[in-house]
Amino acid sequence: MTTKPLHPDTLAVRAALERSQYGENSEALYLTSGYVQPSAQSAAARFANEEEGFTYARYGNPTVASFEKRLAAMEGTEAAIATSSGMAAILMLCMGLLKAGDHVVCSRSVFGSTIKLIGGEFGKFGVASTFVSQTDVSEWQAAIRPNTRLLFAETPTNPLTEVCDIAALADIAHRAGALLAVDNCFATPVLQRPVDWGADIIMHSGTKYLDGQGRVLAGALCCSQALIDEKFMPVLRSAGMTLSPFNAWVVLKGLETLGLRMKAQSAQALGLAHWLAQQPQIARVHYPGLPEHPQHELAMRQQGGVGGAVISFDVGGASPDQARSRAFAVLDHLQVLSLSTNLGDTKSLVAHPASTSHGRLSEEQRQAAGISQGLIRIAVGLEHLDDIQADLDRGLASLA
Ligand SMILES: *Cc1c(COP(=O)(O)O)cnc(C)c1O
Repeated sequence: MTTKPLHPDTLAVRAALERSQYGENSEALYLTSGYVQPSAQSAAARFANEEEGFTYARYGNPTVASFEKRLAAMEGTEAAIATSSGMAAILMLCMGLLKAGDHVVCSRSVFGSTIKLIGGEFGKFGVASTFVSQTDVSEWQAAIRPNTRLLFAETPTNPLTEVCDIAALADIAHRAGALLAVDNCFATPVLQRPVDWGADIIMHSGTKYLDGQGRVLAGALCCSQALIDEKFMPVLRSAGMTLSPFNAWVVLKGLETLGLRMKAQSAQALGLAHWLAQQPQIARVHYPGLPEHPQHELAMRQQGGVGGAVISFDVGGASPDQARSRAFAVLDHLQVLSLSTNLGDTKSLVAHPASTSHGRLSEEQRQAAGISQGLIRIAVGLEHLDDIQADLDRGLASLA
């Protein structure tokens, strides 16, 4: 009998390190900063990377390794390397792949801190970057230089849910001898596996849907074992953006319900998006699952026919100031949903991106990214859809 590869749903609950001698069914949480070595000879071999074995918790931990193994299995990559947060994963990505004189092409619609890190912090160390349209592939092509080493994309984006064509960007990257990294935070491997479209590295903020219950910070890069051994492990060893075993354990257990949560929360989001689109106080709804979304077809193809759990909508206004006070009025009248800039929780979260997650950007950068003052983002959770709708109805009614 041939063994068929296990389905992603099965890997989400089964892929991890071997059980210990105690036969625990739930994965063990190993809280230890150091490890006792079997012999001096072994210790030397382990530190020289010539023998498998844990040496010090900055470099590795069995619980963290279980999380890495399970996430890699779900993303379809050879391996993964965990980090203390999503931003730490991007830091590791850039430190591992770039040096002074190199060039990065990045969508201008990515997460605000990503723009600051790549454009600002790495700019200080002589890494050049060009920020281009999320959706116009020709801008990515035109930005390529002989020293371009990395293309960085996020899809769908926060908060406008703009979708980019991963396969087209992978093609541009590879013809230029560069790598494509994709932030898969919004879709997760349940809806979208960027490696299947040619991406080289998948970046995660485990803080969001992977944990899924708003408890801990975590991050990871999923890629080939060679990239981890040659580029990322050396950075982890010397820079120490290590994921704590406790947080790894929380996210590891979160992965077991990721499929159920993503499907349920996305179904709620689709229902809510249709309702929002009919409300007279709303100028525009952004959701990839709506046929009027500009990249609807691409999103459906790339995300297995599912739009995800994040929606944003614009309450408009005659001026930016008026738009901002309209958005604030809606938010301040909510009684059920949480006003919180996080996302990926079972509790529905609402936020005003222009004054929070994208508040550090200049007005010019914000406009380039399309983040208006009337924009509200909802990360749809697991409350009953009627209650979510009634709460938003209360907020919108305050605008009358
Ligand atoms: C939150 C987020 C990040 C950063 O993750 P942290 O875990 O908060 O560091 C990166 N990208 C996207 C799309 C995010 O939503």
